[in-house]
Amino acid sequence: MHKSSCYRSYAINSVAGDSICDQLNMLLAIVPLLAVCASSLADQDIQPIEVIEIEKELSREVEEEFAGKANHDELGLLKKQFASSHFGNATSLISISTELDFNLNNTDLFEGDIDLTPEQWKVALDIDPATRQRRQALYSVTQMWQPMGGPVIPYTFAAGFPSQYHQVVRDALAFWESRTCIKFRLVNQYDTDAIIFNHRSNGCSSSVGRRRGGQTINLEAPGCMTVTIIAHELSHAFGTLHVQSRVDRDTYVQIDTSNIVSGTEHNFAREPNSFSTYGLPYEFGSMQHYFSYAFAIDKNRPTIYAKPAYQRFQGSMDGPRATFWDTVLINKMYKCTDKCPKQMGCWAGGITDGGDCYKCFCPRGWTGTNCEKRPADAQIINVGETPQSVKIDGRIQAPAGKRIEATLRTFGPNAFRMCRSIGLEILPLTDTRTSGIRFCATPNPLTPIYSEANTTLLWLYRDTKYPVAVDVTVRAF
Ligand SMILES: [Zn+2]
Repeated sequence: MHKSSCYRSYAINSVAGDSICDQLNMLLAIVPLLAVCASSLADQDIQPIEVIEIEKELSREVEEEFAGKANHDELGLLKKQFASSHFGNATSLISISTELDFNLNNTDLFEGDIDLTPEQWKVALDIDPATRQRRQALYSVTQMWQPMGGPVIPYTFAAGFPSQYHQVVRDALAFWESRTCIKFRLVNQYDTDAIIFNHRSNGCSSSVGRRRGGQTINLEAPGCMTVTIIAHELSHAFGTLHVQSRVDRDTYVQIDTSNIVSGTEHNFAREPNSFSTYGLPYEFGSMQHYFSYAFAIDKNRPTIYAKPAYQRFQGSMDGPRATFWDTVLINKMYKCTDKCPKQMGCWAGGITDGGDCYKCFCPRGWTGTNCEKRPADAQIINVGETPQSVKIDGRIQAPAGKRIEATLRTFGPNAFRMCRSIGLEILPLTDTRTSGIRFCATPNPLTPIYSEANTTLLWLYRDTKYPVAVDVTVRAF
């Protein structure tokens, strides 16, 4: 695997436990700024599917569902707040396309980038008018790769797949292999099922789960040829849907149906109560969450608003990497650690690694066999009670017993419409399993973020050629 070329306008360190810097072959800036911590731990071709008529019918039903349930006052408030913030002034925001943007003209896809079988479409569009939910979970007609505990998925490249993109695909395969029990190998003459990486159709898309007789992951070049997008499509091929279709999503987000492109409302339908979340939390920053402007008519206004209790995550949707929970989801779906002789004792909320029974898979900011230590290459900067400006260059250490106030003052020189490809993530909680609060523009108003204890992790990432510089003021209190 290629070593990523870490961007070093400031001192840069590989971030914590999952060594993303080592794992991704992309232009990437990763800067952990860790306010710490005097703890005792050292710290083939696509088959088009005719669904147009059903989609229209479903759109009406989904519209009714939202119209009936939405708290209009709350939505109105969220829209007003958004419009008055810096993020609402979108004329100067730079837009970097995602798989949903690449797929906009492809109406045969479900939830923007998923290619369903006719049987799956039937289930996806079969909504009970009384409950406004699907009668059946899409998972119930989704095939998993076998065997559970360690499937080996054959893959191949479609004829003419540009050789310069073989490596980025292999990096995405290796990314999942390194953190789950799923392995890949090149297809052979005896295989009946395989993933075929295809470059010839428009956009980036995948089937959900295993499809008998072979299935295609479409990757239009060059837009879809990033580890993040390919890893996202592979997650669908393993069997995942998008986070905002979870049965519990209305607790976390408000959908503004008035801004959804007509005929695409079905992309915001919910899974039924039989849907399994595998006991995992709803995560705005998941790599499998839509970005907030998905399917928007006015691309400067969201279709998805974080509800008031979670508003700080408005800019966090659609993560730049598979998060801790994105990874745990795949490991649970495939029972990756069930075969391990014992479960590891892991610190910091880590769990037995799905790809290796004898080490822990660690949340960010932690490393070691048992997630018992801080990454050796993360710098420590001591922070006192006098506010101090930090240009991002390592870990900050506050006195034991103190908490930390961190305020992002500038994000520049450019501002971005969404934080998938570039941004600053602040993780103020001691539990770093869930992704944090992301910024890719200077916030307005400037809002301090307070740590739960004496640790805050800051992570600057960049998968684009745009330069980035941030100024964060920190102090202990
Ligand atoms: Zn997707």
